[in-house]
Amino acid sequence: MLIDTHCHLDFPDFEKDRQETIERAQKENIRYIINIGTSVSSSVKSIEISQKHDFIFATAGIHPTDVENISINDIEKIDEIAKNPKIAGIGEVGLDFHYSRKFEKKQREFFTYQIELAEKHKLPLVIHQREAEQEIKEILENRKLPEKIVFHCFSGDEEMLGWCMKKGFYISFTGIVTFPKASNVHNLVKIAPLDRIFIETDAPFLAPVPFRGKRNEPSYVRFILEKIAQIKQMDKEKIEDIIFRNSLTFFKR
Ligand SMILES: [Zn+2]
Repeated sequence: MLIDTHCHLDFPDFEKDRQETIERAQKENIRYIINIGTSVSSSVKSIEISQKHDFIFATAGIHPTDVENISINDIEKIDEIAKNPKIAGIGEVGLDFHYSRKFEKKQREFFTYQIELAEKHKLPLVIHQREAEQEIKEILENRKLPEKIVFHCFSGDEEMLGWCMKKGFYISFTGIVTFPKASNVHNLVKIAPLDRIFIETDAPFLAPVPFRGKRNEPSYVRFILEKIAQIKQMDKEKIEDIIFRNSLTFFKR
């Protein structure tokens, strides 16, 4: 049994065939899907999708690259949405300086608010980090944290991995592990303790080989599992079982 711990079925990419995509995931043994909110409207839509399917849960949060036009009012909305019984976490939130640092101050501010929300609602926190390792570390070192934290689409260096493990955080791998040239991520998979790993598609993005470049979907999560089993030179069923339990324990309320 598999869990896609991070995808975006609420995105317009799935407007035409959302139902069929969800059915394909069920056929491929996907036991649960966590649909990740990226804004107030995306979080509301994620809940709507989760309410139509027992095996889909949602998170609520504002993505760091979505902070430009938001206000504290939106945090109040996330606070309200977080009370919904289908909400399994706060996220994805964090810092992303890949394109620009123009909104660095606002990104930091809203990341902090949302860490507090996760703590307040006793919900797991799903972190998005891109080119902001030091800044994220600094923020997380200096405050009271929610009990459960995952770094989604993990791609840091060995030091970052070690730091995450020391702090008791989880990390999650995407289809990037199937890319032949992603030797950094292959190495991370090799050294990361199995009981701290999740798998995710991040669909519609980052489709694994053999679908690289196409639209991604939750049913492809098994390609990520297969690659991790190959890198770790372990039995696929055993890894599947451990990763399933990790993610279930993490997202279960
Ligand atoms: Zn995402």
